[in-house]
Amino acid sequence: MNKVDTNSDCLEYEILWDDLTVGEEIGQGSCGTVCRGLWFGSVVAVKVFSKVEYSEEAIQSFRQEVALMKRLRHPNVLLFMGAVTSPQRLCMVSELLPRGSLFQLLQRKTSKLDWRRRILMALDIARGMNYLHCFSPPIVHRDLKSSNLLVDRNLTVKVADFGLSRVKHETYLTTKSGKGTPQWMAPEVLRNESADEKSDIYSFGVVLWELATEKIPWETLNSMQVIGAVGFMNQRLEIPKDIDPLWISLMESCWHNDAKLRPTFQELTERLRELQRKYTIQFQSTRAALPENYLLKG
Ligand code: ATP
Repeated sequence: MNKVDTNSDCLEYEILWDDLTVGEEIGQGSCGTVCRGLWFGSVVAVKVFSKVEYSEEAIQSFRQEVALMKRLRHPNVLLFMGAVTSPQRLCMVSELLPRGSLFQLLQRKTSKLDWRRRILMALDIARGMNYLHCFSPPIVHRDLKSSNLLVDRNLTVKVADFGLSRVKHETYLTTKSGKGTPQWMAPEVLRNESADEKSDIYSFGVVLWELATEKIPWETLNSMQVIGAVGFMNQRLEIPKDIDPLWISLMESCWHNDAKLRPTFQELTERLRELQRKYTIQFQSTRAALPENYLLKG
């Protein structure tokens, strides 16, 4: 992480608690509560951290992280607007994405996503993550999962909740709260080894699996069983047979036991673009084969 002049950077992102109107709760996470808010007439999301867990050192580290987040600008990365960092309160203010998380969208199952949409969503995530990994210095997310991927009105997906690894805990086994989400974590992270960009690639593979199956990963196992199965017994999620072989090979490459052999987000973006071309051609030829009056009715 770059060294940040916390005092001067503070002025760039500091939001006054009194300027915020905090409304209804929209979500709960391991670090606190997310609420709808108003900030100078704009609708925002306010993540209020539960202060009890953080030491003075952690607050200082939080300030460094938010100073870095303020520098990030990408259409697939959640827009961070500022933070309240007083000793009484620790909050993060960001744009509010009305459809909530990808996890919620996939589990609601109200509207079936077609394959072209799923590919677009995977591309959004890969592009956002590629931006973070190509940042100088690279930003490793460490907690990439569908509940940290937010969906806007027109179904664009944005990566959220990155860069807080110092405030949160780095590995599953070191969590004090035990509230980590091992279902998305790479085997090396579950074994308490160091995490790098390639650990995010493993997690992306799990998100690809969720996009394909609309299921919850390792739903029938408890956390310790997931750690055992993935971290120590080299097990992977079961892939249904009817999924496109290109999508299957993408997932499998992300789950390589040797992290070095997993692809980069740049490579994944290119492979997803190939898949996108294939589905566009398929879609166009299906349309062309339909009688004209069918298309008019549709
Ligand atoms: P964890 O804390 O373990 O990472 P989490 O990602 O679910 O879990 P939060 O980041 O606190 O926890 O978010 C909780 C929920 O609040 C999300 O799953 C999402 O549904 C909602 N949420 C968070 N930020 C936003 C936002 N900017 N716009 C809309 N909904 C949001």
